[in-house]
Amino acid sequence: MKRIGILTSGGDAPGMNAAVRAAVRKGLSMEMEVYGIERGYEGLLDGDIKKMEWKSVGDILQRGGTILRTARSERFMTAEGQDHAAKMLETFGIEGLVVIGGDGSFRGGLDLDKRGIKVMGVPGTIDNDLGYTDYTIGFDTAVNTVLSLISNIRDTASAHERTTIIEVMGRHCGDIALHAGLAGGADVIMVPEIEVDLNKVCRKVLRGQQSGKLHSIIIKAEGVQMNSIELASEIEERTGREARAVVPGHIQRGGTPSGRDRILASLMATKAVQLLYDDEESKAIGIVGDEIVSYAFEEALKIKREFGNDIFELAEILS
Ligand code: ATP
Repeated sequence: MKRIGILTSGGDAPGMNAAVRAAVRKGLSMEMEVYGIERGYEGLLDGDIKKMEWKSVGDILQRGGTILRTARSERFMTAEGQDHAAKMLETFGIEGLVVIGGDGSFRGGLDLDKRGIKVMGVPGTIDNDLGYTDYTIGFDTAVNTVLSLISNIRDTASAHERTTIIEVMGRHCGDIALHAGLAGGADVIMVPEIEVDLNKVCRKVLRGQQSGKLHSIIIKAEGVQMNSIELASEIEERTGREARAVVPGHIQRGGTPSGRDRILASLMATKAVQLLYDDEESKAIGIVGDEIVSYAFEEALKIKREFGNDIFELAEILS
């Protein structure tokens, strides 16, 4: 394969730039021509495609966001849109694509694969919601961002003897709440995968108060079907201690990627380019244990995510 394209799609994630850098430089080192496609599938449909050089990806390793920018594209969701996208790649002579994004972006990749384009999926999403890989690029940084928020909130919550609910990202997958909750010593973790027992939550808060704790931290994933502000008033009413809700929102997406995310991005993106170079079938790249793995696209998307019950139970014991 002589000419490849790279795009970032869906929600941005810290480490996407590290993946773009690695893919471009790996491709160039193997004497391929590398093209950057701007704004994901939306830019592909518009033909926003530019040739990348070694220097095009200089000084981006440490930056959050994505220099290629990203988008959610309605137009690409139709068969006509996908036909047009495949034609656009043909126009530019691009034979293979590295798609950096989440499961939606991968489904789009599968549609292009059906139109004869080789596509390698690199998991770039803070949600960690892909079943076939232990971790996705951006997740570790997001967890660390939430940890630093927990530290800040702990100071002020102790000073005011307050209960604080921190609502973190995760509509279907509670991994950010789960991992940040364990690492940050949260008193309660609420995730969409486990039914919430409000009585139990209040008992936990009351037990903490009675044992002399000056604050309680509750980490709640956004996918839990309860409004955080209403939840805070309910807990305040039942426990008699002031409760507040904090929603950090997109703060969780930004920031310099952690070392772990940069390494993961570099390993996965170079693997993707190697597979294109070797003319392999379309694949999704992941990490299982310490090993970088790749699965046939369709197979990867069928693997169901398993919730980390062991981590959840451990966090309950330790808090
Ligand atoms: P994140 O996990 O950060 O939300 P994502 O890749 O899952 O990332 P989506 O918005 O779901 O984000 O998908 C990105 C783009 O991929 C969509 O805007 C759309 O263009 C394309 N896409 C999503 N789902 C499909 C699908 N089922 N078929 C074809 N294309 C799709």
